[in-house]
Order: sequence, then structure tokens, then C-alpha cells
Amino acid sequence: MADMDLAQRAAQLDTIAAEIRQCTLCGLSQGRTHAVPGDGPYTADIMFIGEGPGFNEDQRGLPFIGPSGRLLEELIRTIGLDRTQVFITNVVRCRPPENRDPLPGEISICTKTYLYRQIDLINPKVIVTLGRFSMGLFFPGGKITAIHGQEKWENGRAYLPMFHPAAILRNMGLKPQAEADMAKLPLIVTEAKQRAASQPPPPPSAPVIKLDPPADPPAQLSLF
Ligand code: URA
Repeated sequence: MADMDLAQRAAQLDTIAAEIRQCTLCGLSQGRTHAVPGDGPYTADIMFIGEGPGFNEDQRGLPFIGPSGRLLEELIRTIGLDRTQVFITNVVRCRPPENRDPLPGEISICTKTYLYRQIDLINPKVIVTLGRFSMGLFFPGGKITAIHGQEKWENGRAYLPMFHPAAILRNMGLKPQAEADMAKLPLIVTEAKQRAASQPPPPPSAPVIKLDPPADPPAQLSLF
């Protein structure tokens, strides 16, 4: 993706969003009012990935705009940012009926078809997983109570597991831990930028050496 300029990336991300709005690849599409592709700048350093749209998100086609979203925004403000400066999306883009858990097949189709392409194009410095479904994509087998707030690095990008805001709303005792996890983000972003800056430059491409066309072979000398 490094070879693509911002306008090309934006065009591809717009295309993905349009595909999501029309998607019928799984049964969730049948019950939706609006699909929810994601929201935020295509150049965001931080991408939050939740579970799936709820009632409010389905009504308006935007992620995290209900009670969980208000708490997420509050947490984001604790690090001096607001939601317009980060990219927010979900593992699945259509509301599961009665807010049930998304099924493995639904997660698989939606992430392979859309999420991983969005990640490649936005190329965030940090991915914050919110809750067990997005955590499961990047920390398979991880237990949120054990690993929240502990980032891992892969190919210059950090992944930070955090509690889902809905879990915090159910148990406000988790809020100080979520604030402490969130407080790590600015330093992680700085470190990711330093790591990127200290990367050795790509090797220069081999010079193109133009060779003169071979001279005509000398005419065969006949001694006889
Ligand atoms: N919960 C989520 O996981 N995502 C949303 O967009 C809203 C609530």
C-alpha cells in the first residue's frame, strides 16, 4: 500500500464502504436498516474495532453512537483526542438480531471481505480491540481480564486489547482500568512513529544498465 497515494487509498476505502452498504454476503444483511462501514479519517493513527452495530448504529449507519459510543468518546477525550481523529469500526457491519453475538461464519466473511482491506489501506499505527470478538482476531485465545492494556507489536504496528465499553457500562469498576489502558495510547503512537522513522530505507532499486547491442559477429574468415 506504500506505493499508493492518499487519493487512491481514499477512493478504495470509499469503494469498500459502498460495498459494505450493499453487502448481502451473510444473513445479517437481511435484518439491517443500515450497514455500518466505519467512521473517521482515512489517515487515522488509531483504529478502534468493536463488535457490531447495535440498535442506534443500525438506525443511522454510524458506529458507536449509543450509550457505548458515548463512553468510548469520553475515554478518547481523556487522551486529548476526539472521535473525529480516530477511525472506528466493527468486526461485523450489520446488526445481529436482538444484539446476539456475531457467529464465526459472519465474522469470517465480514473481516476477510472488508475489515482487513480497510486496515491495509488506512494502515493505522495502533489497532485497539474493544471486546472479545475483535480481540479474538489479533489475540487468539487471549483472555481480556489477563491481557487488557498489554500491547503487542507486529510489523511496526501495535495492537492494544481493551474492555468493550458495554462491559464497562455493566461494571463501572472496570472504568479506571480502561482509562489506564487508554492512557497508554499516545506513547504507543509515538513509539510506532519512531520505529517507522528508524526503519532502514528500502534498498535502492538496481540501476538499469543499458548495454549496447552486441556488435555483429565478425564475418567468418575463410583461409581457403
Ligand atoms: N457496540 C459495538 O461493538 N459497536 C458499535 O458500533 C456499537 C456498540
